[in-house]
Amino acid sequence: MIPLPAFDDNYLWMLHDGHKALVVDPGDARPVLDALERLGLQLESILVTHHHADHTGGVAELRNATGAQVFGPAAEDIPEPLTRLSGGQTCKAMGLQFTVMDVPGHTAGHIAYFCAAMDGAPLLFCGDTLFSGGCGRLFEGTPAQMLVSLDSLAALPDDTRVCCTHEYTLSNLRFARAVEPDNADLQQYQAHCQRLRDQGLPTLPSHLLLERKINPFLRSREPGVIAAAAAHDAAMTQSVGAFACLRQWKNDFR
Ligand code: ZN
Ligand code: FE
Repeated sequence: MIPLPAFDDNYLWMLHDGHKALVVDPGDARPVLDALERLGLQLESILVTHHHADHTGGVAELRNATGAQVFGPAAEDIPEPLTRLSGGQTCKAMGLQFTVMDVPGHTAGHIAYFCAAMDGAPLLFCGDTLFSGGCGRLFEGTPAQMLVSLDSLAALPDDTRVCCTHEYTLSNLRFARAVEPDNADLQQYQAHCQRLRDQGLPTLPSHLLLERKINPFLRSREPGVIAAAAAHDAAMTQSVGAFACLRQWKNDFR
C-alpha cells in the first residue's frame, strides 16, 4: 500500500500485488500512470469517495488508458460509467471485499470503503471525512450529520489503518493542542509527526485507536473537550453542541 503524492497535499492511495493495482480518489492521472509504469502494474479498479475535483480529476483518463472498473458514490455527480454504491453494499476489488459506509458531511453523498482484513489488519479509505487529528470541512452537510459519520468510522476496530487523502496532520495537531493542551498522547504524536515531516515522510496511514486518543473531532463528548469548546464560544457550545463549535473554531483557527 503506497501513498502517491499529488497536488500540494493530496495522497492517492494505491494497493498492488505486484501485478494488479487499485487506486483511491485519483485527482490526477499522472502520478498513477507513472507508478503503474515504474512498478509494472495493471490498474484493475478505481475507488472514488466523493465528487470533488482533487479526488476525481484523473478518473476518466485512467479509465480510458487502462480499462479499470470505477466504483463511486450512488448520489454524487461523477462522470459515467461507474458502479454506484451506497452504505451497506459491498464491492470486490483486487480480490478484497470492501464494505461501503455512508459518511455525509463534507459532501452530501460521501462514502468510505472498509476492508476487514488486508495483510492482517483492517483498512479504511475515508476520503475527506476523517483526517489524522481532524475532519473534513462541512461543504454540503450539517455538524450533526458529520458527527454521525465520524461516530460510525470511530466504531471500527482499533487497528484499522486510516488512509486519509490529505497531509493536513501537522496543522490539525496545532489546533488539537489548542483544544487539549494537556493531552500527553497528543503531545507525543505531534512530536512524532513533526519528525516524519522533517524527513519528508507521510504521517499516514493513521490508526483508529490513536485517532480516538488525539482527534478532537472524535472526542467531542470528552469533558475536557466540551470545556474547551465552551471556553471558546459558550453560546455556540450550549446551542448547537461541542462538535459544531469545534468545527467552527477550526475553520477560523490560524
Ligand atoms: Zn473533498
Ligand atoms: Fe480533498
